[in-house]
Amino acid sequence: MAKRKSMSSKMAQRKKPAPKLDTTFCCPFCNHPGGVSCTIDLKLYVATAVCYVCEEFYHTTAHHLTEPVDIYHDWIDACEKANQESNVELDELR
Ligand SMILES: [Zn+2]
Repeated sequence: MAKRKSMSSKMAQRKKPAPKLDTTFCCPFCNHPGGVSCTIDLKLYVATAVCYVCEEFYHTTAHHLTEPVDIYHDWIDACEKANQESNVELDELR
């Protein structure tokens, strides 16, 4: 029954030291502290992180264990991947 996603193996090692969960984060685009807020829609299984300062946003899939910090980390990962891919493209052009 369990679906396996090798891509998300990083998620398995997350710790939960803090009982209080943050729902606002520093924006990866404009670096505004607390600019990003995360919402999770468990009816549509969609999670959204949006920055109210620069209006950048990120959508990902959600489930009943998804937490705001997961969405934020997914966003950061996606940003880093996008940066790496654009760097690779630049290297190949040279
Ligand atoms: Zn921003």
